[in-house]
Order: sequence, then structure tokens, then C-alpha cells
Amino acid sequence: MVDINVNKNQGLISAIKTKLGAENINTSNITWNVWTKILEQVKNENEQNKAEGKELIYHKGSNASGSGKDNFVVFQGVIKFSQTLWNNICKLAKGEPLNESPTANPNQTGNVEGNPNDIALQNRTNTLKAINVIQSNIAKLELPSNVDKSKINEVMAELSKNGLTLPQQSVSVGDMTTSLLVDLLTKLMPNASEEEINYYAIKNASNFVPDDTIGARKCSELANNDDLIRGMTRGEVVEIVPTPPTQEVQAPQQVPLEQLKANVEKAVTILKAELKNFTEDDLCDLAMTDSDREKILSFLDNITYDDDPTGAAKAVNNGIVFSTYCQKSDNVANVVALLMHEANHCIRHSQWGMERLNSKEEEWTCESLAMLTVAKLIEKGKLQGYENYQRYSVPVTEYLKNRELLSTDMNDWLTRNYSELPNYAVYNYIENRWEARENPRE
Ligand SMILES: [Zn+2]
Repeated sequence: MVDINVNKNQGLISAIKTKLGAENINTSNITWNVWTKILEQVKNENEQNKAEGKELIYHKGSNASGSGKDNFVVFQGVIKFSQTLWNNICKLAKGEPLNESPTANPNQTGNVEGNPNDIALQNRTNTLKAINVIQSNIAKLELPSNVDKSKINEVMAELSKNGLTLPQQSVSVGDMTTSLLVDLLTKLMPNASEEEINYYAIKNASNFVPDDTIGARKCSELANNDDLIRGMTRGEVVEIVPTPPTQEVQAPQQVPLEQLKANVEKAVTILKAELKNFTEDDLCDLAMTDSDREKILSFLDNITYDDDPTGAAKAVNNGIVFSTYCQKSDNVANVVALLMHEANHCIRHSQWGMERLNSKEEEWTCESLAMLTVAKLIEKGKLQGYENYQRYSVPVTEYLKNRELLSTDMNDWLTRNYSELPNYAVYNYIENRWEARENPRE
């Protein structure tokens, strides 16, 4: 057994860090994705201990992305890990693979779609394609002028000599190209920040493989869209306003800023007053907690404006940014829906930090909260004249009575607008491009 000391006010991760440090293992570069793998190992052993009536490692919760107060709760004192668990943690911390046999962990559900051999072959092919893409585009690499391009071939040779790690899950040529460019640029631009390196990697990769995808986004959509790429490297949620297929494509109309501000402020005033008055029953109908309400009220106090032609509104950190290209801002119900939708993205930012990319699951909860809030306000007579606000198949108030209908309409909406998003949140996008993909959280 290996003893891990837990000091006063120390959490499980911090205690493991101290122990790793004592064994001269550098912990400063362990990414969140690796921590979730470490916690998964601890969880497996804790469950085994529980089943065998042995002493537990932690006493409450196993949601790695949840609150530290309620998850992996350890008591001050000494906790005991098996030697195998500790060896696995050390390996993960050092970036080494775990040589687990496929049957070693029967409780874990596999996330690999399709035959693993097919995926391995596909990924090897995609890696070779990505290397080829980079080598044939070296002359076209767009980098800051002070970068010494003459070293590129040398660095590429060094990288290939050290061997490449192949991902377990299916990744696109765009993802592989981005990944290789991150490794290459880290060597070429030693003084650049991680964000800057990610930016140049995505920017160049999206130009090189226009028909492919990066992080489930189309390269053609990313290419030359600096705002979108910058947003991606910062983990921001960037809303794309879909063009209705039945309408002719029109150049988006810009709204004068003062008019937009007046429209948004009108909706904010109504929404804030009503949110404050919501009863327990109202909150229950919207599946909203008191603390969500408090957070949403604070986000509604942090509204700014920009001229981003790609979206109506977006969530950035703890605030909502409206674009002067926002359509239908004179429709109060529409603006209330946008406010609630983006505020829910902000809640996710506040819970999980910015180290995650958007997902279908997140969009689903954002949009359904938006629809239910609008419905509530119409039902209470606070949004008069919007009874036929038919954003979906039915008057929105129907959703309060029929949750199945809400589900059906939300799923259709997701398929139309967000079919390329991963099902669940993708964490720490650039460093762990593939591991977290399609990896369900608890
Ligand atoms: Zn959204």
C-alpha cells in the first residue's frame, strides 16, 4: 500500500500532487484531461474497496467536473492507495500510457465507435496524411515575421524521430494536422503563449485542409475567420446564426447600436423583474435552482455589444455580447430567449471554466431553458402579443405542458444547427484534442 497524506483543507487532487512532487514528478503540466483519468483510476479502486468492505479512499461524489465540496471528498489524515493504483497515477502524470488489458476494467463503457482496429488504421492513415499536408505546405505557413522558417525541416525531422502518439478515438485529418502543428510551433516559437500557438495551428491547418474538420468545426468555416479561431483557442462559445433553408440568402442587416441597446434593455428589464418574482414552482418548471437564478441575474448586468457579423449573441466568460447584426431584436420574446440561452452558457463557463468546448448537450439545455422562460413569461401575461411566438412547431407555451414535444423540437433544432458538435463537452481542446471527445461526463 502507498500512504497519501491529506493535510487540513487539502483536496484529493492536491494531496496526490504533493505526493507526486515528493517523488520528483513534475505536476505543473498535468492537464485537466489527465486529472480526470487519474480520478477515474481512484474511483475504480474506491468502488472495489467499497464492494470488498475495505476502507474507502474518498467518501462522497465522483463527478470530476462538479464542485470540489461534493466530489472526491477526503478527510484529513492518511489515505491508502494500492501499489498498482499509485503506479498508474505516476504513469499518467508522466504522460505514459497505461498498459491495461481490454478486460481489466469491465465496468468502463467503451467510447470508441466502431472496430478499434479500424480506428487505429484510420488514425495511422490520417496521421500520415497530416504529415504530408504539413510537409507540402511549409512554404505557405503563415507565421509571425520573426519566426525562423529555415528551421522547420529540422524540427519536423526531430518530431518524427521521437515517434507520434496515435489517438484511441477517431480523429480527422484536420485534427491531426492541428495537433502536429502545435508540436511544431511549440518548438519554433518558444516565447509564444499557448493561445498564440493554438491560434496559428488552427489558422494554418484550416487553410491546408479546407474540406476537413477541426474540433468538429468545418475548416471552410474556420479558414480566415480570425474571430472564430480566436474564440476557439479561448474556449468561447461562438453562436452561428443559421440561415433558414427556405429563405433566400441575404446579406445580414445591421441594427443601429442605439436601437439595439434600447431593444435589449427593454427585454432585460422585463426578464430581471420576472426572474426575481419567480416562485419555487416556477423555478421547478424551468428546472432552475436558486443559485442559477442569482447567477443569471448577475450575467444580465454584464451585457456588451459588438459588430460580429457571424452571430446574434454570444456568451463570453460572465457576460453576454450582442451583435449589431442581431436580427429580430425588436421582438422582446426573441431577445428574452437569446438572453436566457446565453446566460445558461455563462453558467457552464462559471462551473467548468473555459477549458471546454460547446456540446449538443449544452446547446440543448440552453435552448430549452430559453423556450421555457419565454413560455413562462407569456403564460404570466408579461410578454403580451407574443402568444403566437412560433419559433418551433407550436406556440411556445405548449412546452410547459408537454415535455416530450419540447424534447422532439429541441432534437430537431440540434440536428438542423449543431449536428457537428460533440454530444458532451470537450475539455481542454488543444492539449487533449481527441481523448475527451465523445467521452460522457457523469
Ligand atoms: Zn448556444
